[in-house]
Amino acid sequence: MTATASETIGSSLERALLAKVPSELYIDGKWTPATGGATFDVVDPSTGAVLATVADASPEDGQRALSAASAAQRDWGRTPPRKRSEILSKAFDLVMARIDDFALLITLEMGKPLSESRGEVAYGAEFLRWFAEEAPRIAGRYATAPDGRNRLLITKRPVGPCLFITPWNFPLAMATRKIAPAIAAGCTAVLKPADLTPLTALLLTQVLTEAGLPPGVLNVVPTTDPGAVTSPLLADSRLRKLSFTGSTRIGRQLIAESAGQVLKVSMELGGNAPFLVFDDADLDAAVDGAVLAKMRNGGEACVAANRFLVAESVAEEFSRKLIDRMSEFTVGRGTETGITLGPLISEAARAKVTALVDDAIADGAELAHGGRPQTGSGYFYEPTVLTGVPAHARILQEEIFGPVAPIVTFSTEQEAIDLANGSPFGLVCFAYTRDLQRGLRLAEELETGMLGLNTGVVSNPAAPFGGVKQSGLGREGGIEGIEEYLETVYVGISDPFAG
Ligand code: NAP
Repeated sequence: MTATASETIGSSLERALLAKVPSELYIDGKWTPATGGATFDVVDPSTGAVLATVADASPEDGQRALSAASAAQRDWGRTPPRKRSEILSKAFDLVMARIDDFALLITLEMGKPLSESRGEVAYGAEFLRWFAEEAPRIAGRYATAPDGRNRLLITKRPVGPCLFITPWNFPLAMATRKIAPAIAAGCTAVLKPADLTPLTALLLTQVLTEAGLPPGVLNVVPTTDPGAVTSPLLADSRLRKLSFTGSTRIGRQLIAESAGQVLKVSMELGGNAPFLVFDDADLDAAVDGAVLAKMRNGGEACVAANRFLVAESVAEEFSRKLIDRMSEFTVGRGTETGITLGPLISEAARAKVTALVDDAIADGAELAHGGRPQTGSGYFYEPTVLTGVPAHARILQEEIFGPVAPIVTFSTEQEAIDLANGSPFGLVCFAYTRDLQRGLRLAEELETGMLGLNTGVVSNPAAPFGGVKQSGLGREGGIEGIEEYLETVYVGISDPFAG
């Protein structure tokens, strides 16, 4: 497992792409420098090299962005759903027509291999298409009250101006999962992307503009001082909703800040996904699913399998097969051909993974494969498997966010369920079993927003993504996703037949 020096995408191609990506704030339909002219650098996590320099929004810029969103809200909310749908459809076509540009940009600023970045573009773009299809289907109802007298008219209206705060791990998809349903519902927005990966959001904004999105509907303010920019917006009565994707720690803080105005909030927070393998599972399928659930996005995903809970009788065979597969990864810069695992996002992220692995070994876990950060530039870490991990180990309690698979054994179904539920998080569980009734029991017993039953991937734009417990509030995607951007209004009407 070494970094390959094989054919690379030419750096001239990279430079040509970077030259085309906007580097300013986008407010009220105009690209604009930050007030005071501040900027910050965006860095390639594979090399530490500066990719681009981007405008660094100030609190004043945040206010300008919210003013633009607020001013545009009335007209946008009244824009025919079909028109909103057509803009989203056009944006889907434009993103897919530029899939290579988006994929390269994601790889450059976030680090994952190009093939995975292409997967993110296809997934992220699909939210534009899905919600283009949902926009004309926003519906209400008309009913007769149970006593037969009054009539009940129930309608939906857009929530109003939204604030979106997104993380670095899926720079396109985490943005489209919020922007698309908001546009479909008739909401305007201010987007604050992660400062580690703002370039993809800026290119997406350019594409949405080309697709016909009117000025003020989407405003984008990258910043290195997120609290200073977003706190005043959360306290501003023109804002009606916050949708956040990120860590539970920051999410909790933002929920508290949103309480002042009783804002409608959506929270897509951290996970600690258990991956259960029962003794009746198809083990080869389970290993395939495990590799996907663990290694997609290099383990830097909220839905990444964080704890492998394996029936004692099959644990040795499962571990052996998983180690074989983990040793097949080739680590290196994601732009190079043949690379299947990129770097972690930062030195801090790598230090955290290193500490979790070292702590687990000190606690008695056995290092079965990997376990070392790689030397040289870039924040690389080897695919790693730990066996015999004790239940109290920190690595089982915290999000690893890296390519490390800790394996724990269980002896009964109830023990497996108790272990899985023994976490304050509840985003996703994965389970492999051939027993249909057990599968249904798990669906009822596991404390989770999502369950992957004999599959290692649950993310799908047509399905409601989200968690229970400290993994969040609300859902993104599916027919549920647009509801987060709609208010329900009830009109009571007197009996039309009353004399
Ligand atoms: P993070 O540190 O919570 O940051 C997320 C976003 O919040 C970034 O844009 C960040 O800005 C911003 N932020 C940080 N402090 C803030 C503050 N005081 N006020 C306002 N905004 C603030 O999380 P991350 O490290 O980027 O992302 C990883 C986490 O996201 C993991 O826990 C993962 O599980 C979670 N995640 C959840 C889902 C889901 O759907 N449930 C999906 C993806 C990721 P800066 O970048 O400028 O710091």
